[in-house]
Amino acid sequence: MLTNHYPQIRGLILDMDGVLWHDDEPIGDLPEIFSAIDRMALKVTFATNNATKSASEFLHKLADFGVKVHPEQIVTAADAALRYISEHFAPSTQIFVIGSESLREEVRKHGFLVTDEQDSTGADVVLVALDTHINYQKLARAGLLIRAGAKFIATNTDATYPTPKGLLPGAGTLVAAVAAASGKEPLVIGKPQPTLFQQAMEIMGTQPQETLCVGDRLETDILGGQNAGCLTALVLGGVSTLEQAQAWQPQPTIIARDLKSLVYD
Ligand SMILES: [Mg+2]
Repeated sequence: MLTNHYPQIRGLILDMDGVLWHDDEPIGDLPEIFSAIDRMALKVTFATNNATKSASEFLHKLADFGVKVHPEQIVTAADAALRYISEHFAPSTQIFVIGSESLREEVRKHGFLVTDEQDSTGADVVLVALDTHINYQKLARAGLLIRAGAKFIATNTDATYPTPKGLLPGAGTLVAAVAAASGKEPLVIGKPQPTLFQQAMEIMGTQPQETLCVGDRLETDILGGQNAGCLTALVLGGVSTLEQAQAWQPQPTIIARDLKSLVYD
């Protein structure tokens, strides 16, 4: 078991896409894996760069796979981005969102006004996340607004995300397009920035040296965990390959086939 090899671990920060599931296919027997984690008395948080779903949508997805968690165990790049905007901009600030309908809804719930590509009004913030309905008009509007002085914020810069079909374009693909259109680089909120990891450790009450960050992507999950001073575990079968992991410096603390083998072996 994991804690036999690493008795110092008290908490896990788990990435979700590529660790718990590929799209709608669970990776292994998740209820069984989580009861083993329970038996080891480990605290668990879930930290995701995926800004297409709200924390409560992730809660339901976990429940559908037989994993019961509390809403406060889930930290998302979208929540963290909105927290940042709330701290730096007035309520009812106009925000142009490239992102899912769910993200737009979260932005409204935080008291901001969402403008769209048809509006002629300005915006103080351009928030970019994964948008599967991206089009030229949205990119054009984002570029113009940022050139006119709007703050360019990206939930995350994951270039791709894993699906059963293979790697599909992620938020990072769109962020790169907006950066090219605007001539500006964004403020990035998600992993590998330390924000989500710090928030997760605060929730669990753990120190970095007692915390294992688990993910399938070296340049976000592993780099971010390393930046936060945590132990790190790369699970294979998602985005990063064994070859890439072996070339990564410094090495992840653990490389495992999947979450089950990380927990049991
Ligand atoms: Mg992932």
